[in-house]
Amino acid sequence: MRVLALANQKGGVGKTTTAINLGTALAAIGETVLIIDLDPQGNASTGLGIERRNRKLSTYDVMVGTEPLRAVLQATIVPRLSIAPSTLDLLGVELEIASRRDRAHCLKAAVQALRQEQKERPEAERFTYVLIDCPPSLNLLTMNAMTAANSVLVPLQCEFFALEGLSQLLATVDQVRTNLNPALTIHGIVLTMFDSRNSLASQVVADVRGFMGDKVYQTVIPRNVRVSEAPSHGKPVLLYDLKCSGSQAYLKLASEVIQRERVFRAAASLESEAS
Ligand code: ADP
Ligand code: MG
Repeated sequence: MRVLALANQKGGVGKTTTAINLGTALAAIGETVLIIDLDPQGNASTGLGIERRNRKLSTYDVMVGTEPLRAVLQATIVPRLSIAPSTLDLLGVELEIASRRDRAHCLKAAVQALRQEQKERPEAERFTYVLIDCPPSLNLLTMNAMTAANSVLVPLQCEFFALEGLSQLLATVDQVRTNLNPALTIHGIVLTMFDSRNSLASQVVADVRGFMGDKVYQTVIPRNVRVSEAPSHGKPVLLYDLKCSGSQAYLKLASEVIQRERVFRAAASLESEAS
């Protein structure tokens, strides 16, 4: 089970859209996926058709430790894709856990319990990917996500200020690696909302590739109106319009993510054989 935190402290860069549609694309190619909605806004939950009145249990209960992940998750309209929904209660969670010594490890504890359960109960649904949709802030919720994760996936909008804030995000990942989660890696950076009619957009792509090299996925997600329409129908864009450029891009991204995982795993097993 691989855990990826989708993080960027900027709002509106495509974190939630990527969580929903990368999750759907991974499920479409055979993975079993859990999205953990860790944003109090709950856009990932809404975008996957989980109405607020049906969110009796949520990631709030998981964070305060009263429910295991397994108890709060819900199936979605996408086969092999489940979600742990969020509610506005999450807004208060920081205050509630702030004084705990293990405040950055609440989500990690829940993820580890799920991992353990998958080992012990072969009949339980086995998730191969967990995607955590983070809030637009480097707060305690995002810290929890990065502490629970194997890797961070950074959605970056193709706009003039794309690189602004990226160094702060990378510094935060370094901090988490030093203090909370030594094995944390950056999985990759995905450029989103690319608009070919905007002459600046190609320059931004070149700049980000120049700065981050092959950490940037080859796949660039185009700006596509179908992508932004889909959530209001409570559907991922892959179900709303499979043929559109946005859906096709998320399918490509999913195979790139899996390919990178293979490379990571091969490197790790070579390392352990060598030692
Ligand atoms: P974040 O979670 O980082 O705040 P969202 O995923 O909610 O960002 O995206 C912000 C807005 O941009 C949403 O209205 C979403 O529908 C829209 N959007 C995201 N990706 C695309 C895209 N590829 N094409 C068009 N609109 C998009
Ligand atoms: Mg969001």
